[in-house]
Amino acid sequence: MPSEISIATLGVSRIGRRRELKFALESYWSGKSPAAELLDTARALRAANWIEQRDRGITAIPSNDFSFYDQVLDTAVMVGAIPPRYGWSGGAVPLDIYFAMARGSQGDVAADCGHTHHGHEHHGVTALEMTKWFDTNYHYMVPELSAGQAFSLTSTKPVEEFLEAKALGVHTRPVLVGPLTFLKLGKSSEPGFDPVTLLAKLLPVYEDILGRLAAAGADWVQIDEPVLALDLAPEEREAFRVAYGRLAAAAPGLNILLNAYFDGLGANLGTALALPVQGLHVDLVRAPGELAAILDGARPDLVLSLGVVDGRNIWRSNLDAILDRVEPVMARRGAAGIEIAASCSLLHVPIDVELETALEPDLRSWLAFSVQKMDELTTIAAALAGGRQAARAKLDASAKALASRAASLRVHDPLVQGRMAGIDAGMKTRQSPFAGRRKLQAAKLRLPAFPTTTIGSFPQTAEVRKARSRHARGELSYADYDAFLKQETAATIRWQEEIGLDVLVHGEFERNDMVQYFGEQLAGFAFTQHAWVQSYGSRYVRPPIIFGDVSRPNPMTVAWWHYAQSVTTRPVKGMLTGPVTILNWSFVRDDLPRGEVCRQIALAIRDEVTDLEKAGAGMIQIDEAALREGLPLRRADWKTYLDWAVECFRICSSGVADETQIHTHMCYSEFNQIIDAIAAMDADVISIETSRSRMELLDAFRSFKYPNEIGPGVYDIHSPRVPEVGEMAELLLLASERIGGDQLWVNPDCGLKTRKWEEVRPALVNMVAAARELRLRA
Ligand code: GLN
Ligand code: ZN
Repeated sequence: MPSEISIATLGVSRIGRRRELKFALESYWSGKSPAAELLDTARALRAANWIEQRDRGITAIPSNDFSFYDQVLDTAVMVGAIPPRYGWSGGAVPLDIYFAMARGSQGDVAADCGHTHHGHEHHGVTALEMTKWFDTNYHYMVPELSAGQAFSLTSTKPVEEFLEAKALGVHTRPVLVGPLTFLKLGKSSEPGFDPVTLLAKLLPVYEDILGRLAAAGADWVQIDEPVLALDLAPEEREAFRVAYGRLAAAAPGLNILLNAYFDGLGANLGTALALPVQGLHVDLVRAPGELAAILDGARPDLVLSLGVVDGRNIWRSNLDAILDRVEPVMARRGAAGIEIAASCSLLHVPIDVELETALEPDLRSWLAFSVQKMDELTTIAAALAGGRQAARAKLDASAKALASRAASLRVHDPLVQGRMAGIDAGMKTRQSPFAGRRKLQAAKLRLPAFPTTTIGSFPQTAEVRKARSRHARGELSYADYDAFLKQETAATIRWQEEIGLDVLVHGEFERNDMVQYFGEQLAGFAFTQHAWVQSYGSRYVRPPIIFGDVSRPNPMTVAWWHYAQSVTTRPVKGMLTGPVTILNWSFVRDDLPRGEVCRQIALAIRDEVTDLEKAGAGMIQIDEAALREGLPLRRADWKTYLDWAVECFRICSSGVADETQIHTHMCYSEFNQIIDAIAAMDADVISIETSRSRMELLDAFRSFKYPNEIGPGVYDIHSPRVPEVGEMAELLLLASERIGGDQLWVNPDCGLKTRKWEEVRPALVNMVAAARELRLRA
């Protein structure tokens, strides 16, 4: 039944069900296929997305949501924000300049540490920096904007894709990254320069593109302004008024849907509601409580796009509960006054549950990926238009799946719930304060000053990856694979001894990924075959799905630690991924608060920590690489998050004796605003990334008088460059000006898995020599 209610996805995944875009891109990049083939693949993917959405009943079908790499990069290329080093001389921007901005222009693509927030580096022209898109694991390319920045319309991609869809008989609603989001995400190397001040120069380009879209026949355009989910300064809110005042007048007949998502509008609500736009999208999954205020403040003629189906998670919606909330809105505003939409673009969810033939049928029935979410949207709209009776069969199927999930014994484990109820203060506190532990650890471990260590992984060579995939395909027996891994581990231990590292690691050769490796051994986790989501460019990930109560049936790392320790007399650190990082890199169940899920994981990791200690490990590292990136978008929400994140770390790490040294590692060091939380974790040793900032970021630790031990990274592992002894010694001197020398450890910035042995060997030899220099000076 056709409904007159608008139904919108706001954007869909562009990678293809079988990762067609990845393979086309990589084939083009490696010179194996011509540009024409890449363009054909892209055109076919766009067409398939449009037709699929139309056939599934989506009425506000997006265009220009496709990108070869990233929509922010597309916007930079559309407005002529192309830094001089790319050698662009005006006119249409060639594909190779576009990819140079994305990846650098020549030489091998440098280390990407899997979950990187760093820009990549290349031997030729460097790429734009990249960083995480709000609180997702998607990375965008950071626009480089200068005070003298000029803008001009340098790509008409939005118009071309609108016309491409039109030629297929599909009328679309083009999507643009909004001018304020673009500017606010941009950065300038000029100190103190705020790119948002470039607004007046940028607006003519947006006016131009809107005029062209209207001329091509567009009647609506969707402008994404996720910065509305951040704390904005008064000038920034004023900039919204200026921008949308002008854009609304730019093209008569072209309606603007302003798209806000990833959180409520908060203090920006009044600003958003006062803008002269025709439509406003709101994220009612993240901020359900804001609906009343929005309804009270919205002009009667404003179309409200209600983001009710979760665009950030993979669970089937509770359709009846959504209808309970939107039916009164429909009654109040009428079908023409609302739109039923995903909470944000479906870019962040995988495409189709039907491909997951290996999942347990009950679990599969609880899931909704992109195309299943489209069906949910049309079901909601049909029930609104024709009454719930009109959609009865679909509503019943949805309710049945939800009931099966709520009752499933695979989801609810009384043992885990019992342990959760038993968490008490004692479980979150080490036996003695740090000062006391430190003496006992020093007496037991007998390490030199400036002890040297690494962060955990050693190069995952082609040979290691090949052995893993041959084992996965059944071509290499378990016994042979195990023997191979042991041989790699033993050789790495031997080499670390030879070069004189003080605290050794086993090298993590058995791990595919620092989260997946643990998820695969924990109860309550599931893994998919095809549920890829874009992380950056052609790099996609399949996040684990946490569907049930989490527990650890068996030790996960003890055998590897034990083997490594059996071949050396030097201490080998146990190596674990922390609960917050496991949580932040997974799709998390939505029937429990995230903090609760995290506590369950913390109990499982605690079990592993105590088993490692029992096996004899005197040092155990619990990596929390993703703790900081999990910070909520708004400052007001930080405390709640940090409270449970710190509590979880303490649950994991407090079950051991005072003599046992707990390490943690974080892949960044901007701790200014959260240093008290970092201190509250009370790890005996923390290793962080500091080489690029030349230790400046240690200032936060200095002003806080951080008492525990710190290993500030002295070797930038994101670059193939081998640092000299002198450079690293100098960094250590800079560090000891800020932190007492007796608190310092010597280590690289992060794990070495993406580097080559040829780079790692001399770099670590130099690092050990640098530590020795410091010992002599001390
Ligand atoms: N122990 C992990 C490694 O060395 C840590 C990785 C990370 O922090 N991203 O690979
Ligand atoms: Zn790291």
